[in-house]
Amino acid sequence: MGLGVLAGWVLVSYHNHSFHSPDSRLTARDFVRFARGTGVDVVIVTDHDNVRAALDPAFRAVARPAGGSFARASSRSDPFLMFGEEWGTFRAGRVRWGHVGLIGLEDGVSPAGEARLADVLAGARARGALAIVNHPFNWALSWRGAEPPAGVAGVEVWNQGWSMPVMENPKALAWWDVALRKGRRLLALGGADTHGLEGSSYFYNETRVDRPVNLVWAERPDAASVLAALRAGRVLVARDSRAPGMVLEVDGAGPGEVLAASTPGRVRVSLAGARGCDLILNTAQGRLHRVRIASDRQEVRCRLPLLASGDFVRAELRRPGWGEGEMEVLSNPVYVSPGPL
Ligand SMILES: [Zn+2]
Ligand SMILES: [Zn+2]
Repeated sequence: MGLGVLAGWVLVSYHNHSFHSPDSRLTARDFVRFARGTGVDVVIVTDHDNVRAALDPAFRAVARPAGGSFARASSRSDPFLMFGEEWGTFRAGRVRWGHVGLIGLEDGVSPAGEARLADVLAGARARGALAIVNHPFNWALSWRGAEPPAGVAGVEVWNQGWSMPVMENPKALAWWDVALRKGRRLLALGGADTHGLEGSSYFYNETRVDRPVNLVWAERPDAASVLAALRAGRVLVARDSRAPGMVLEVDGAGPGEVLAASTPGRVRVSLAGARGCDLILNTAQGRLHRVRIASDRQEVRCRLPLLASGDFVRAELRRPGWGEGEMEVLSNPVYVSPGPL
């Protein structure tokens, strides 16, 4: 398995609906079973406009209090659940805006659908939750606006399969990239959007909690550490738990980390299982490097002429195909300090 190169990273499934959503049937036991079947460590449950899962004893029983350890490195720990909400902005039965995921919101103070977006984001932030714009170009539930609204921490740039037409993931990625180039530091996340409603609609993922999956560098295997790592941007997004492995370093720093201004720009990408894929390096100046990977264990080294400040480096691994190719893995940026804003 390619992701083996990333031993020590936690596989986190974001954006899953339980039976506490009107359009899902999934139970806590289902999520644990799906996670075990795919090697996922953490499943974040975000139901539509409620946090009932976080209060449900069956779900709480598979959450994990702070204080775990990675001591059992040879055998991965049991999967556990984290909680949040997928808040939707509806008015008089019509969608005004799309959906926003509030990771870590679990105190039962759920903003009602009529609330203003700015108030919801401020309330979520005050409770320590992380607000993510979900599926921004979903055909039915899209966001409007040239860039992500102020007050969000990130964007779900990848919902379900990369090329699933209804989610327009390439547009979501470009939308995020425009914001990065303006100096915003926004987390890119992948969302599985499971509903357990196989065959009911092509909007719905059924049971794959790892499509896509987030690789998160958390200091400890508990909810607080995973949330802190998400907030810090220590995240890669992969097609599924069998995707190639990719480690990005820029002058010794990884995704989410901030380099001093005028850094040399020495990039090192370690890859496993990526033969035949294209590695692409993007910066605030656009795409600066693209190389076809020739072997299954390969390290790519190059030097990029980064701007003295306000730049970033992020990596994409794509399998050649129609258009820009199928995304295999993408990284969050390594930033060059200070940003222009
Ligand atoms: Zn949604
Ligand atoms: Zn959803």
